[in-house]
Amino acid sequence: MEPITLNKENEQLINIDDMSEESTLTSFNVGRHSTCSGTMRILKVSKTHNALICPECFFRILLPEDVKTYRNLRAHLLAL
Ligand SMILES: [Zn+2]
Repeated sequence: MEPITLNKENEQLINIDDMSEESTLTSFNVGRHSTCSGTMRILKVSKTHNALICPECFFRILLPEDVKTYRNLRAHLLAL
């Protein structure tokens, strides 16, 4: 699967070649952060939101909890 652009500065979620659009975002290894090669994770932060985080460089994006797949993630980020 193609990398997912995370923000307007063109940071990307990479190393997701083995994932499909319908794959569920897993807590401990969503993919790698293009900027620092950190392994990105999903963290539950409230009843309504998760966060996509990079533990290496402290990058963080809030995600509504209904963002569950790579397709959902791509669509959500495009709409921001
Ligand atoms: Zn990072």
